Amino acid sequence: MARIHRLATLLAMLCLALFAARPALAQSVLRDAETEALLADMANPLFKAAGLSPASGQVVLIGDPSINAFVAGGQIVYINAGLIDAADSANQVQGVIAHEIGHIIGGHAVFQRDGGYGNISILSLLLGAAAMAAGSAEAGTGILMAGQRAAIGKYLAYSRVQESSADAAGARILNGAGVTGKGMIGFFEKLTQQMHQYGYYTTGPEVDPFAQTHPLSQDRVQTLTADLQNAPSWSKPLDPDLERRFKRVQAKLRGYANDPKATLRIYPKTDTSVPAHYARAYAYHKSGYPEQAAAETQALVKLAPTDPYFLELEGQILLESGQPRSALEPLRKATQLSNNAPLIASTFGHALVATEDKANLKEAERVLRDSLTRDRNNPFAWINLGTVYDRLGDEPRTALATAERANLIGDPRTALISARRAMGGLAQGSPDWVRAQDIAMVSEQAMKDDKRYRGGR
Ligand SMILES: [Zn+2]
Repeated sequence: MARIHRLATLLAMLCLALFAARPALAQSVLRDAETEALLADMANPLFKAAGLSPASGQVVLIGDPSINAFVAGGQIVYINAGLIDAADSANQVQGVIAHEIGHIIGGHAVFQRDGGYGNISILSLLLGAAAMAAGSAEAGTGILMAGQRAAIGKYLAYSRVQESSADAAGARILNGAGVTGKGMIGFFEKLTQQMHQYGYYTTGPEVDPFAQTHPLSQDRVQTLTADLQNAPSWSKPLDPDLERRFKRVQAKLRGYANDPKATLRIYPKTDTSVPAHYARAYAYHKSGYPEQAAAETQALVKLAPTDPYFLELEGQILLESGQPRSALEPLRKATQLSNNAPLIASTFGHALVATEDKANLKEAERVLRDSLTRDRNNPFAWINLGTVYDRLGDEPRTALATAERANLIGDPRTALISARRAMGGLAQGSPDWVRAQDIAMVSEQAMKDDKRYRGGR
């Protein structure tokens, strides 16, 4: 719970600066139950080996096609979707995570108000997210990327000393966790090749920020290799379960984020593997071929009828193709089979609301509240819960849901107004009233800080 709050606060604080001064820099945190579960399983042994509690460590996925990973305060490692796309294995990504945890324990991240992560998109809400966020981002990709790169460059102007210390710590972490460092070396070599290809000091958009902010000298790679090769874990085989799940998540992200034509080139129809079906389902859905998308999803569900993520995708595609009633069964099953994964439950709640059937409102309320109790950091779920209360005629709780969402996306003005409205109608001292009061106080403070911040510039 605490870590979700901290992330929400961090996001809110960052957004504040963003929305006030430079909306063009807003970036998306991508949320997806399967991806988050995988990243946690990849990172938890590394957090533990670093002496950090896995409960407070977190890996957050950013919807950005460039190859980058970074820390920005707290025990959060940010990984771009572009890095997952470029990596050959889960083990390579673990190498990057270990290096970034090295920055965390070295205390290298300096929190800056400029630049940051504004919008939260949910990987599942393809069309919804496209309409809300990606649509505008797509139009201005060039500008966005340039600005973002500059901000990240400034953000992470790490010295060589800090890089070497993060490498050394990263190697210790991998060795301590019993994870081979082959992936770390492999990924760094990949970046070195890219740099040679594009020129080291080029600041054009073709050079990735990770390469820019992580100068990779030959002796750096040599030192790192020596540190890693001497450990017993060097010759340990890769974890087959993590690698298999990585290929799935990578395919899903590619299908979601990349141009559908590119996806179909990597995963041609002749490829009947699970990752290929996954990638094509997203690619077809994204380009408006619901029947082909459904065929790919059905192939997956046939292969593994109790896989919650396949059922989640089946439900989403139906929901987003305007068939919320048909989406209920697969989403209900996916929610149960995933042991009520909050993100999957929130999609189920969305489908219940989308049926526009009054008889479904109570179940939607229960499902959404349960999801949000365990994961507040989900603006779409707050929108849906607000709709439920609005239809039930519960004005104070409609206002509270609006306040929660506004608080999350960094809109303290709306959060304050809505929280006060909610407090006016709720029983004083009740849990919802206390929550509204908390949001009101935090938002008031955020507005004061924002004024001071802008005044001081
Ligand atoms: Zn670094």
